[in-house]
Amino acid sequence: MTAMILKGKTCDWELICGLEIHCQIISKSKIFSGASTHYGSDVNENVSFVDAGMPGMLPTLNEECVRQAIKTGIGLNAKVNKHSVFSRKNYFYADLPQGYQITQFEYPLIGEGFVKINLEDGSNKSIGIERIHIEQDTGKSIHDISPTKTFLDFNRAGVGLMEIVTKPDFRSSEEVGAFLRKLRTIVRYLGTCDGNMDEGSMRCDASVSVRPVGSSELRPRAEIKNVNSVKFVMQAIEFEAKRQVDIYENGGEIEQQTRLFDQTIGETRFMRSKEFAHDYRYFPDPDLLPLDLEDEFIEKIKNEMVELPDVKQERFVEEMGLTPYDASVLTEDRETAEWFEKAARGHDAKKVANWMMGDFFALLNEKKISLAESPITPDNLGKLVELVTSNVINGKTAKDVFAIMAETGDNPEKIVEERGLKQVTDTGAIEKIIDEIIGSNPDNVTAYKGGKVNLMGWFVGQVMKASQGKANPAMVNKLLKDKLG
Ligand code: MN
Repeated sequence: MTAMILKGKTCDWELICGLEIHCQIISKSKIFSGASTHYGSDVNENVSFVDAGMPGMLPTLNEECVRQAIKTGIGLNAKVNKHSVFSRKNYFYADLPQGYQITQFEYPLIGEGFVKINLEDGSNKSIGIERIHIEQDTGKSIHDISPTKTFLDFNRAGVGLMEIVTKPDFRSSEEVGAFLRKLRTIVRYLGTCDGNMDEGSMRCDASVSVRPVGSSELRPRAEIKNVNSVKFVMQAIEFEAKRQVDIYENGGEIEQQTRLFDQTIGETRFMRSKEFAHDYRYFPDPDLLPLDLEDEFIEKIKNEMVELPDVKQERFVEEMGLTPYDASVLTEDRETAEWFEKAARGHDAKKVANWMMGDFFALLNEKKISLAESPITPDNLGKLVELVTSNVINGKTAKDVFAIMAETGDNPEKIVEERGLKQVTDTGAIEKIIDEIIGSNPDNVTAYKGGKVNLMGWFVGQVMKASQGKANPAMVNKLLKDKLG
């Protein structure tokens, strides 16, 4: 449990929070028209007559958007509803040329599910999913070109959205942050949404209320709209909870309302009193038939599912011997997980994980490059680990070889071969060096034999140095002990 408790004068308060997340569906064309969804096109380049709300234009459902939403539903352990219905949500705004949004209301495509989140104290929590419905996105209003006019870009109008609604299960901003990161990981694994909050392809609304600890009532909530980063969502929730506690503690009341988060000052402010569902006059869209799915269609999608992060994480622990922490880091995104699996194939997975999370990630950070740009391939990292486990080189030499790989991108076997870095495991050769060191340092030998046993480290160092770092350290230790008695 990581509940956020707010101390008041009269009592302690707890936070109650639920989320609605709009995720742009990855698809080539829009959800009800053939226009492109490409991000970054010229203004109003991707607008069909349907998207522009021209009279008489009829929407046609894009099957790919349905498939993507079902995939997401399965990824969130949710029920796929075989029967769902598109409705019109009526409201007037300039970025909505039809005068209504096609969405799902009474019968959503996806029903209840859950997402497991990992918290900092090592505990887990399950967050309930209420539903996922699919709908069209609006256009974009541009207010900062002219002081007197608003400009409209309809490229986004009609792009498919999945609206993911959670249950009010969050009790702290930390849980909200963990959930959003987990959700982003899952949709990215699935390839159903790119999860970029700063580009607006994942947008979060948070409903916040507070109540005295121990009570089970649900008080009126404030809905904070369209916050565009995980950090800001967390800040907005913390601010809003404190604001509400202050009002209650001073004898005031909270009314249901919609608020905006101002990221420059870190505060939420009043936007409008909240509208209720009946304000939108929802009714089934007469231009679209109900969506009735066949079992076969759903089964086919289930069979195409990729391995999800939770399952991967478990497998990394159970089959590959990683710690839960290592497994969680290496499964955070699919690319990293797949890179690791490639590198670990046929080698000591735990050692590969250590190299990856240590020197390898440090290298990427230092060079400010992505995994895909890495000069070291997964195969070559696996080979490097193998050279150590099979005693061809020692750990110290491996660090040097790694540095050369980072510069040249070369195969470590080739580097070791060409530069003569193989470790010396020939007893005779090591003994010869040891004899020389012992012979030329009689004082230290006497001191060691007289009880200064920590001189052993010094002897090992000398032998390693004389072998140019290539002697097998375990053998050096053993032989030295034998010879010094
Ligand atoms: Mn919506």
